[in-house]
Amino acid sequence: MANTSYPASYYAASANPVPPRPALQDDVETDVCVIGAGYTGLSSALFLLENGFKVTVLEAAKVGFGASGRNGGQIVNSYSRDIDVIERSVGPQQAQLLGNMAFEGGRIIRERVAKYQIQCDLKDGGVFAALTAKQMGHLESQKRLWERFGHTQLELLDQRRIREVVACDEYVGGMLDMSGGHIHPLNLALGEAAAVESLGGVIYEQSPAVRIERGASPVVHTPQGKVRAKFIIVAGNAYLGNLVPELAAKSMPCGTQVIATEPLSDELAHSLLPQDYCVEDCNYLLDYYRLTGDKRLIFGGGVVYGARDPANIEAIIRPKMLKAFPQLKDVKIDYAWTGNFLLTLSRLPQVGRLGDNIYYSQGCSGHGVTYTHLAGKVLAEALRGQAERFDAFADLPHYPFPGGQLMRTPFAAMGAWYYGLRDKLGF
Ligand SMILES: Cc1cc2nc3c(=O)[nH]c(=O)nc-3n(C[C@H](O)[C@H](O)[C@H](O)COP(=O)(O)OP(=O)(O)OC[C@H]3O[C@@H](n4cnc5c(N)ncnc54)[C@H](O)[C@@H]3O)c2cc1C
Repeated sequence: MANTSYPASYYAASANPVPPRPALQDDVETDVCVIGAGYTGLSSALFLLENGFKVTVLEAAKVGFGASGRNGGQIVNSYSRDIDVIERSVGPQQAQLLGNMAFEGGRIIRERVAKYQIQCDLKDGGVFAALTAKQMGHLESQKRLWERFGHTQLELLDQRRIREVVACDEYVGGMLDMSGGHIHPLNLALGEAAAVESLGGVIYEQSPAVRIERGASPVVHTPQGKVRAKFIIVAGNAYLGNLVPELAAKSMPCGTQVIATEPLSDELAHSLLPQDYCVEDCNYLLDYYRLTGDKRLIFGGGVVYGARDPANIEAIIRPKMLKAFPQLKDVKIDYAWTGNFLLTLSRLPQVGRLGDNIYYSQGCSGHGVTYTHLAGKVLAEALRGQAERFDAFADLPHYPFPGGQLMRTPFAAMGAWYYGLRDKLGF
């Protein structure tokens, strides 16, 4: 049987206490059955409950078991491909709609944290760090682009200024986004789950959806029960497997790894990141890091295509951390874990409807903390009959990976090798 406990992460070790949730053992009826209790599922559930729907959430393992409880915790705006790329592939009206939504996810997170009093170490400020002049040029155009869509909290950092916010000598400059920031991701998910329950939503854990009976009144089956619903939202992302074959065909689970140091002294933590911003570099295979509430450095990077779990995570990630911060050479690593995100060929999210009543959002391909919160709102709007924003996502073109499921991993790995080489050579 698949392991359904949290991985041995820093987040699981520092999770806020929660009551146990039962597995579904009955036949129940609801308005909306949500499959998956990550941010996509929980955000959908919350928006639907706030709008008077009856909601039942089925989670195969535990709330936040997937990427939402394991990620780097970085609140990063926009999508994994930026609005200019979207503009080039879709019409101006659709691009405008998507651009208008590009900074909404971060606002939703902050509203949720404030409204439901979620304790998740929320901090403002995220830095994009440029390793080359070319990357710096890209940040300059990204600032102009984001400002065109209404963003007002961006600051370009020259080499002297970036050294004031991060003690790493590798960067030639960067961009600070004060509407970015960071959170304890599992505690955000647990807080959102508690908010769902406070509004009358029901969450069943250890309750995998094993079959969907499609039709006018669809039924989701679990090993010991079933849920009949008017609508289904599929939010299993990289952990969904083959439950919905149409969704598996156009996406690929990928693993990425994270380490957490022992708590650093106040002095050392402050010397690394004096303003406590989070940082990600501008490489295709990027490194990202930040301090936790108890002053550990969380450092992530690297991608394993096809989501095989690497044997020694510390051996992969620690050298990256020491390259950025040689001053941490004597610091112990307390936790190392891996998690899966879902890659699409375009690196844009896949949103849509199967038949009349099965909705889905998946595959934000990396930056998903903000997008998934927005997706929940957009899916809820569609179920209420307001589909304009849903359609803007649903109309994005998507393609299967070349070579089908068998060849998608080697093809994507080849692509990543190529981009990784470009990063190393600096072009
Ligand atoms: C290690 C790591 C670091 C990352 N760092 C960042 C970051 O710093 N910033 C950022 O923006 N993004 C980051 N991401 C991406 C981001 O975490 C994800 O895009 C986002 O959390 C996806 O949320 P989700 O709800 O769609 O999926 P998930 O959080 O994966 O949730 C899916 C849930 O569905 C459940 N499920 C699956 N199948 C079934 C089924 N059949 N029945 C019932 N339940 C089911 C799973 O158990 C899981 O709990 C990172 C991802 C990883 C893996």
